[in-house]
Amino acid sequence: MIHRREIHHILEGYARERITIATIGSHTALQILKGARDEGLKNMVICKRGTEEVYRQFGLADELITVENFKQVLEKEFQEGLIERNVILIPHGSFVEYLSPSSIEDELMVPMFGNRMVLDWESNREKEREWMELADLKLPKEFKHPEDIDRLVMVKFPGAKGGKDYFLAWSPDEFERKIEKLKLRDRGEFTIQEYVIGTRFYPHYFYSPLKQRVELLSMDIRYESNIDGISRLSYILQERHPEPSFVVTGNLPVVVRESLLPQVMEMGRSIVNASQELFSPGLIGPFCIETICTEDMEFITFEISARIVAGTNLYINGSPYSQLLYQEPMSTGRRIAREIKNALDENSLDSVLY
Ligand code: AMP
Repeated sequence: MIHRREIHHILEGYARERITIATIGSHTALQILKGARDEGLKNMVICKRGTEEVYRQFGLADELITVENFKQVLEKEFQEGLIERNVILIPHGSFVEYLSPSSIEDELMVPMFGNRMVLDWESNREKEREWMELADLKLPKEFKHPEDIDRLVMVKFPGAKGGKDYFLAWSPDEFERKIEKLKLRDRGEFTIQEYVIGTRFYPHYFYSPLKQRVELLSMDIRYESNIDGISRLSYILQERHPEPSFVVTGNLPVVVRESLLPQVMEMGRSIVNASQELFSPGLIGPFCIETICTEDMEFITFEISARIVAGTNLYINGSPYSQLLYQEPMSTGRRIAREIKNALDENSLDSVLY
């Protein structure tokens, strides 16, 4: 793990008036670029060959660099080029997936927005659960052994992209039958989690260490295939429906009943407080918790994403919540740039980068 001090040492060599916000061209890059531009900061996008047109088309980037493969970003010379350009990298979902959490921790010398210690806590299911438990969030019941299954459960495999290869089972027998039929026996460790029935909410928060406050910026529901298709035909399909899968194909906007907002805010604050205990200085910047609200108005949390999430793309022009906080269109991408700008003004960039 590259030490915080080493990154901050590199940061000391940066020309403050020429800071460049950069990210890789995928996921939420467009709003990150636009956010930097709206805040008057220089920006840059690193594109995989063949995808440049998307980023050129919108004309949002001051500079566009093409790579054959995103792993190239980790090469020594490439990193030196970024450091010479005073680059601050903004991590997003694809950024973490393509570069891998361990390479980011051990090889990436370029200052990154946020606290890279969080990567370990969000990518390791046991640590993530420890974090959520310390935050006192309500979690779905987990079963250590398949023989204990006594209700509908979801079986999750590590690294299963967007929930592909997850399956549902009502009983130990069904678990055995499906793990065999779906050829998942050799897939490695799995988690057996109670399937919570309710409505999904994925609130997007931002923790500002400068203001020491948690902001609720927006909220979405993930649109998932094939489960969201099956539910339209549930009556017709009945017993003949295919095994549900949960592959994210899009995002839908949502607001929560106003009387539930105190709970939503409290969950965000608890996650931040727990992170400060577990890995000081804790979470910095955007994060999202994946929840299901039951008919008893209880939020059950099953996952944390400790970075900007794709659902924020719905709100490049602001959301019903960000409009209450800011008198201007404030996306999560722009909020990141605003925090960097404020940190520059206060001479405290090192409090928001690692
Ligand atoms: P995940 O990979 O944990 O983000 O899960 C993918 C999708 O599966 C979620 O977006 C939900 O639709 C669904 N899901 C995950 N865990 C649960 C759960 N415990 N109960 C009900 N649905 C879940």
